[in-house]
Amino acid sequence: MSNLFYQSRQPRPFLDRGEGIYLFDEHGKRYIDGSSGAMVSNIGHSNPRVLEAMKAQMDKATFGYRLHFRTEASERLATKTASLMPDGLDRVFFVSGGSEAVESCVKLARQYALTQGQASRWKVISRFPSYHGCTLGALALTGYDPLALPFAPMMQVMPKIAAPTCYLDRDNLTDEARGLKYADLLRDEIIAQGPDTVLAFIMEPIGGASTGALVAPDSYYARIREICDEFGILLIYDEVMTGAGRTGRFLAAEHWGITPDIVALSKGFAAGYAPLGAMVARNDIVEAILDAGGFLHGFTYAGNPLACAAGLAVLEEIEREGLVANAARMGEVLKQRLEGLMRRYPMIGDVRGKGLMTAFELVSDRETMAPLPRGMNAYLRLVEIAYGNGLIIYSRRTRGGAEGDHFLVCPPLIITEAQV
Ligand code: PLP
Repeated sequence: MSNLFYQSRQPRPFLDRGEGIYLFDEHGKRYIDGSSGAMVSNIGHSNPRVLEAMKAQMDKATFGYRLHFRTEASERLATKTASLMPDGLDRVFFVSGGSEAVESCVKLARQYALTQGQASRWKVISRFPSYHGCTLGALALTGYDPLALPFAPMMQVMPKIAAPTCYLDRDNLTDEARGLKYADLLRDEIIAQGPDTVLAFIMEPIGGASTGALVAPDSYYARIREICDEFGILLIYDEVMTGAGRTGRFLAAEHWGITPDIVALSKGFAAGYAPLGAMVARNDIVEAILDAGGFLHGFTYAGNPLACAAGLAVLEEIEREGLVANAARMGEVLKQRLEGLMRRYPMIGDVRGKGLMTAFELVSDRETMAPLPRGMNAYLRLVEIAYGNGLIIYSRRTRGGAEGDHFLVCPPLIITEAQV
């Protein structure tokens, strides 16, 4: 028996080392890290320049509490991060992971409403399905029943609207009309909840673990922004998975020219070299809160110099190696190859995604998109078969109103065409 435990019993070999897109276990077996872990290791494993930057920081100091010292690493990382954001998103707050980033966004939004004399605003509308993290606050926003329902009595569960699972719809609408139809669900929900009680809307621009790289029609994104503006509601983009270049732009929001009010980042932001995440917000929101006495929120490890040195080196590596553009290019290649498989195997019902956030879904009938029988556990079995063959991919059984088996294929952004 090991003293260590995680979610479930899942015996795995010991990890020995990583190199580029590969991981090696204790027996020397090589695996393609086809999901970058959990969509984390965006610049691949054991990058020497990042390790060098971390060692240099370690030689100076690994921790200095932010109330006692400013650090060059955190200042430089904040400057670099802001420079990569759309205009207007200038202020950066560090955390240690995605759930922390999401909760920080929600608390920042709430405190901002208080500074504006809008104490009645506290509801944060999210989507179903969605994933925003596993801490109780982030879970209250998460639209994934198996994870959320057991804890529902302990949380203020937030209102949800249906995420645009258009590929399942059997209607005669154009893509544009479908996008607007789904976006207008937000309008309906705001009105049903009472507009002066709604604080914010949070969405993954491309649903990750919850939907398997589901991209909405273009019309959806602009309409959501319009609705938020119409009701004075803050728009929070959870780019924990999509951010830092994964989708072929630094933020997925850039694909649609949308500027959210607050953004959550983690995963690829420090690419697995250190536990790190960030919230990036509009300057006026932050200034209003600081003027009113300060942000009532902070994590002990937030902004520690070692994690920030890692994050800075990762962002520099992304720029130096042109990894955002590579994600866009290799994403096209990967999608074409997956579509090739789809032509050969009728069991593949859909191939989707943007950049290197790519997924496919298995179905029992492509015409009706009926899922495979639940008891088949296809989402677990295919992952195990791939693992046995030295390929790591990521799966879940969930989609829109029904259930389906989808698989995320999200290799590190350094991947080459030959490796795809
Ligand atoms: N938000 C999104 C979109 C995610 O995909 C995840 C993790 O998968 C999280 C938040 C939570 O991040 P973490 O597991 O680092 O707390």
